Amino acid sequence: MKRIVVLGGGESGAGAAVLAKKKGFDVFLSDLSEIKPAYKALLDQYGISWEERKHSEYLILNADEVIKSPGIPDKAPLIKKLKIIGTPIISEIEFAGRYTNAKMICITGSNGKTTTTMLVYHILKNAGLNVGLAGNVGHSLALQVANDNFDYFVVELSSFQLDGMTEFKADIAILLNITPDHLDRYDYKFQNYIDSKFRILQNQTKDDALIFWENDPVIKAELAKRNIQSALFPFAIERSEKTKAFIEKDELIISTLNTLFSMPTTELALQGMHNAYNSMAAGLAATIVNVKKENIRQSLQDFQGVEHRLEYVATVRNVRFINDSKATNVNSCWYALQSMKTKVILILGGTDKGNDYSEIEELVNEKVTGMIFMGLDNSALHTFFDGKVKNIVDVKSMEAAVESAYRMANEGDSVLLSPCCASFDLFKNYEDRGKQFKHCVRNL
Ligand code: ADP
Repeated sequence: MKRIVVLGGGESGAGAAVLAKKKGFDVFLSDLSEIKPAYKALLDQYGISWEERKHSEYLILNADEVIKSPGIPDKAPLIKKLKIIGTPIISEIEFAGRYTNAKMICITGSNGKTTTTMLVYHILKNAGLNVGLAGNVGHSLALQVANDNFDYFVVELSSFQLDGMTEFKADIAILLNITPDHLDRYDYKFQNYIDSKFRILQNQTKDDALIFWENDPVIKAELAKRNIQSALFPFAIERSEKTKAFIEKDELIISTLNTLFSMPTTELALQGMHNAYNSMAAGLAATIVNVKKENIRQSLQDFQGVEHRLEYVATVRNVRFINDSKATNVNSCWYALQSMKTKVILILGGTDKGNDYSEIEELVNEKVTGMIFMGLDNSALHTFFDGKVKNIVDVKSMEAAVESAYRMANEGDSVLLSPCCASFDLFKNYEDRGKQFKHCVRNL
């Protein structure tokens, strides 16, 4: 019997193990950390053997195939060993893809993945399609393939998941944008990260669709190098000859062979230029699977947004508080600032990934009247912003950050938490950071 070893016992690993078991493989799951009780219970329910806090090599190196959680880097000693002995290593998505004929709508990019994924799912679900949500959001694709019978899946894919995919094909691929991120996992070579993102369109034929941001310089240059088979659906703010979705006279327009769709941008639930991109990408995907125009319009209008992404929290004495805790790189903060219509007190800082703040310098000059540096080590922020912004305060807790920001703000200003950095120095994760922000704002 073929032996499958799953490395990592989180959502994707546990789901992959269940699917493998159901398909009759000899399955073993191993996690170097502790496995959450709910996943242990799931594994036990299916009689899958597992271990935690260790990797027993004698139980792993005999695998015919390994399904690796995207969180485990290729540099991990065990992965290196598996590579030396030539064991195929794949991702949960690759594995799940073998056992379903559902149409796959897959979303990747450096920023906007979750928002766009949720938006596509919202449109398809509201239109009555039998659709599942998977990848970085929702439940494991493998588990849903094992237990459900969906016609469509909307799948958020990180570059790490894409790295473990070779045969999988997206029927509709959305490539939102590419800016440098996670370079520590790509030998500090941007091209390696680009190649990883471009796996979203591998195996596509002329019957499959690639939706992408037409004016992204990185995507543009890469497309020019490749011989692409896919049907192309570029979106952009300004229309060119080939653009299939664009903005004209404050209307979002989708114009494909079969459809001409338009709606006023003021009616879009998600505001800001970045969200116009996300709405265009989602609208194109929905058009390609033949969702009716009324349904697309309705769903683009009533989408509730996603927590921690430019999420409006409250207005306290005419100061608006916005939670953009998910902005863990400089580019997403740029879009957050770009969408602000008032003066801004910006709360930023955390674990700096070697950020280049010059990207936001112009918008900071234009809109930011005060800054709160919230991190254990704010030196990189001081080096860049000292002398450029008048009011700067250092804090080491969310409570102090919110209070200082509130004190700095004038009536009519906005306080924006858009940290440009990871959260691990002071918080469990970005969700914890965003939740603490909201809690402190509500206590003002
Ligand atoms: P991801 O899942 O790729 O991290 P999210 O949808 O969670 O993306 O959004 C993360 C942050 O990126 C948000 O805080 C938002 O301000 C910003 N953002 C969202 N969409 C885009 C986009 N299309 N381009 C650039 N930035 C974006």
